[in-house]
Amino acid sequence: MTPTTFHYTVERFADLELLRYKVEGFRELSLTQKLYIYYLSEAALEGRDILYDQNGKYNLRIRKFIEAIYLYYTGDKQTEAFRALEIYLKRIWFASGIHHHYSCDKFIPAFTPEDLADFVAHTPIEKLPTEGQDLADCCTELFPIIFDPKMASKRVNQADGEDLLLTSAMNYYNGVTQAEAEAFYAAQKQAGDAERPIMYGMNSTLIKQDGKLYEDVWKIGGKYSKVIERIVYWLEKATEVAENETQKEVIRLLIAFYKTGDLHIFDRYSIAWLRDTASHIDFINGFIESYGDPLGLKASWESIVNFRDTVATHRTEVLSRYAQWFEDHSPVSPQFKKEKVKGVSAKVITAAILGGDLYPASAIGINLPNSNWIRSEHGSKSVTIANLTEAYHQAAQKNGFMEAFVIDSATIALLEQYGNLTGNLHTDLHECLGHGSGKLLPGVDPDALKAYGATIEESRADLFGLYYMPDEKLIELGLTPNAEAYKSEYYQFMMNGLLTQLVRIELGKDVEESHMRNRQLIARWVLEQGATERVVELIKNEQGHTFVKINDYEKLRTLFGKLLAEIQRIKSEGDYEAARALVETYAVKIDKPLHEEILTRYKALNLAPYKGFVNPRYIPKYDADQRIVDIEISYTEGYTEQMLRYSRDYAHL
Ligand code: ZN
Repeated sequence: MTPTTFHYTVERFADLELLRYKVEGFRELSLTQKLYIYYLSEAALEGRDILYDQNGKYNLRIRKFIEAIYLYYTGDKQTEAFRALEIYLKRIWFASGIHHHYSCDKFIPAFTPEDLADFVAHTPIEKLPTEGQDLADCCTELFPIIFDPKMASKRVNQADGEDLLLTSAMNYYNGVTQAEAEAFYAAQKQAGDAERPIMYGMNSTLIKQDGKLYEDVWKIGGKYSKVIERIVYWLEKATEVAENETQKEVIRLLIAFYKTGDLHIFDRYSIAWLRDTASHIDFINGFIESYGDPLGLKASWESIVNFRDTVATHRTEVLSRYAQWFEDHSPVSPQFKKEKVKGVSAKVITAAILGGDLYPASAIGINLPNSNWIRSEHGSKSVTIANLTEAYHQAAQKNGFMEAFVIDSATIALLEQYGNLTGNLHTDLHECLGHGSGKLLPGVDPDALKAYGATIEESRADLFGLYYMPDEKLIELGLTPNAEAYKSEYYQFMMNGLLTQLVRIELGKDVEESHMRNRQLIARWVLEQGATERVVELIKNEQGHTFVKINDYEKLRTLFGKLLAEIQRIKSEGDYEAARALVETYAVKIDKPLHEEILTRYKALNLAPYKGFVNPRYIPKYDADQRIVDIEISYTEGYTEQMLRYSRDYAHL
């Protein structure tokens, strides 16, 4: 093992933090595979400006305008006002527009209109993108959009009772009321195939002109044509180096969709894509998620290129192969065990590039396609993106969180050494074995636990994993390095369940989300059950800060096993009353003074609530005949550098 010099943290501003992710395994790929990823990553970056335009009518103009000032302003760039302009620009890049990526509220700059007027006056006029307008007119138009809190105040308004289209600043509709749009698409649905409906309205802007509604379709020859032509150019290059015929067919259908805008072809593409589970490299490129449209129809453009994480996938395959052994040896009563259990082999991927609505803020898991009839007839593809999760984990080691909440330096060292490994292993045990283990007794209604069902089910899966974490079998299978590593996950789990997950809940509220309830249920139950023997304790330091102290890890395992047996019994017998008692006693209520203390300690850390990623850079290396002989990966590019390069090289709108 070489010591790691990889820096996960890039920079921090406003409520945002930028991280870098590592594309482990890229250098070991064949040249053909590298080329395939390179062409697909270019296709992933080309679509960037589509998203800016989708997010709001003025986004591209404002971005270009502020970028020009940032680059060419001739005055003093060290003033407070100019630094505020820099932060504003960085926020625009992060959100792909002038509205917060998560809250959807417009953010107002910390410099004044007078400051901006002064910046404009001291920037060479030929550098300012006025789009043929008089500079004064341009400023008159853009300044209120930037500064007036009442104009374009929300990107996606969901407030019941208001016209959601007229009150949202997103750019999917033009001059259309909510009622008109709803009627327009209701008519389309009525006329179409009821059993297998296409994704109506997904890839177009709905426009009202001269009293008539029509769709401006996003395709070659239609709206965004210039960008889509570039995407298709790279996709065509990618087909030449694709790994197999299945991939070629997937890309061929995607290109046909981009050329025609035909949503029937999009469905065929989606089916071909979800069926391809064997290829090493995979990608998404297109109009996918509809969160940016208050009516949930129009899909924002996004892309990710990825390849299989072979180490992690090996781990889940091993677990899956030994699924019966784990079932047979669990502490659950034999009558509730499955005679024949099948493990699930989870697909874990490594992201190679993020684009559009997955950049810089990204999901860490993907489950597609979104079409309901395709999901029910053909299933869906579900993956977790391990290198993004790892980047979150690594960055969290250095932000003061551990020092603030972990009891002592020995435990911090344990968590730093084994935290990521055992955290992933616990997730795998949960997903690959936990949910699939156990059986219902004959005649028991699968929904017998009603509202408590989800929490009990998550507890069952978590406990199955927790029980096996220290098992010698995992060392024998090469999944844990030694008999100490599991302690890291035990500590992490108890600290999270008893204390730190509370930072995600507002003071005075109960625990509601079922995964969070599950964790508190387990942690509170073992704390109480082990109290007389002091297996786990909550102790306070001199400042009155509460910490988890684990005195006996072996007994803790026994308690997890005991609760697993009981939870499985509840599930197998459909014992609603017992489920209710467990959840209501341990999982829901929060000790208010403790909650307040945790929130205060967390707030003092001043951590960025939102994170995003800087992409690596792929650089082709040529021989004397201008043939690509290798693709190098580089991690040195900064956030601003990357954004300015993208604005320069992928600007087609
Ligand atoms: Zn689960």
